[in-house]
Amino acid sequence: MLQKLLNALRAQSKTTSGRRGFLKGMLAVLVLAPAIAALEACNQEGGNGGGEEPPAGMTPVNAETDATAKALGYHMDATKVDTAQWPKRAGAEGAKQFCKACNFFTAANGSWGKCTLIPSGVVNAGGWCNSWSPKAGA
Ligand code: SF4
Repeated sequence: MLQKLLNALRAQSKTTSGRRGFLKGMLAVLVLAPAIAALEACNQEGGNGGGEEPPAGMTPVNAETDATAKALGYHMDATKVDTAQWPKRAGAEGAKQFCKACNFFTAANGSWGKCTLIPSGVVNAGGWCNSWSPKAGA
């Protein structure tokens, strides 16, 4: 998004009011850039793990309100798991653990799927919980 703004600004500076307009635009970009960057980071972390939106009619599991998800330490982004609290996810073997490679996961699309243990919504393919178990045959 930030890149699009800069491109639009460059295009405007070539076609219209010249220096003054360019400087106003640059000022706007400088003021808005941190907010835009924060929003993009938030989208990648919490929104959908950087992947597709959840399938229509399906809601992501909320580990704050779903008691089972909370008890199992479910995280939408497995890379954000506190391995001191959840040592199963620590080390080289732990780093390979994602919902998409779990025996309880059934894909709904590329980024989301149903978990047998947490049925309140869809879990992220890049997520994790302490009940992670390798897919049969993997
Ligand atoms: S049981 Fe498996 S699929 Fe379900 S949340 Fe835990 S790691 Fe993800």
